[in-house]
Amino acid sequence: MAIRPDIPPKNLTEMSREAIAALVADLGEPAYRADQIHGWVFQRGARSLDAMSNLPKRLRARLAEAGYAVGRVEVGQLRESIDGTRKLAVRLDDGAVVETVLIPMGEGRFSQCVSSQVGCALDCKFCYTGTLGLSRHLTPGEIVDQVLLARTLVPDDVRITHIVYMGMGEPLHNFDGVVQSIRVLTDPEGIGFSPRKITVSTSGLVPKIKALGEAVPVNLAISLNASSDAIRDRIMPVNKRYPIETLVEAVDDYPIHSRGKMTMEYVLLGEVNDSDTDAHRLARVLARVRHKVRINLIPWNPFQGPGYDRPEEARVRAFQQILERRRYTVTVRTTKGLDIDAACGQLGERPAS
Ligand code: SAH
Ligand code: SF4
Repeated sequence: MAIRPDIPPKNLTEMSREAIAALVADLGEPAYRADQIHGWVFQRGARSLDAMSNLPKRLRARLAEAGYAVGRVEVGQLRESIDGTRKLAVRLDDGAVVETVLIPMGEGRFSQCVSSQVGCALDCKFCYTGTLGLSRHLTPGEIVDQVLLARTLVPDDVRITHIVYMGMGEPLHNFDGVVQSIRVLTDPEGIGFSPRKITVSTSGLVPKIKALGEAVPVNLAISLNASSDAIRDRIMPVNKRYPIETLVEAVDDYPIHSRGKMTMEYVLLGEVNDSDTDAHRLARVLARVRHKVRINLIPWNPFQGPGYDRPEEARVRAFQQILERRRYTVTVRTTKGLDIDAACGQLGERPAS
């Protein structure tokens, strides 16, 4: 489909029903055409204007001429791990590549991890995406496209039931793009995800946490990753702006939308933040929100460069037990997709070897 280069691309996959209705009205077309277009994009998964077979050719041509398209991404490499995790590379229209991961949850259900930026600006020392720096935010359509594309690639009996914003990028740095993508994903007449099945993970941009709570009723996960400011300063530069206490306060203020708890993620780095002392200190740091949170321990997923170690299983268990004895709910994240670089913190294009 030819797009006139002088017109900025317009992506139907990021448009609300109202925006599509306004577009159709602008074109002087009857209102029911808006329902048809919306249905094609968000329910029937059409990936091109030409696939919308009950729209008159003339209307499809006018949409194309005006610069509209269904999605501006292409399927890149799809890799499958021995544990069933699938990683999909998604090529954006400027050539950048982001990755999205489908994580099996049993009984044909998957959780999808989506990216929100090309790279990331926050420079956490243990994260591969952080080493890439930030190229740009994703548009809301590019985020929604990851979900729509994944749906076309999985067999009909597979259901994607949860979405987590834990792929490449810091979702709250791309606040507007992420919130708009959530609005589209949760439109009951469209893709229809329950906001309760969506989790946004953040490294702790405190003012934006509050804004997220006010904007959309989604679940929150916080990458805490340290039991003291001294350690967090070293591994997450963002801590210098928003230290642990301000973060815990933001968690305390965040509206709890479901029966579930908020997640405090804690990447365990051998001999950096995984000692008994750290576990006890963590228990104290989180005391005021203990009943609101679940701690999710993530043994570090290695990549070459930063020189961290993944702790032994016995160390992880000991850390968990200290917290449990202090009446915390603690889970250990099972590592999925390690063999295809699809585990937490491993996303991002590798240089060709
Ligand atoms: N930027 C957001 C979401 C993406 S990172 C955030 O930081 O929360 C998703 C999770 O992966 C975060 O909890 C982060 O701490 C964790 N993570 C990053 N690199 C990791 C690695 N190499 N091994 C294990 N977890 C990692
Ligand atoms: Fe960015 Fe999250 Fe990685 Fe930190 S952990 S560099 S915030 S993607």
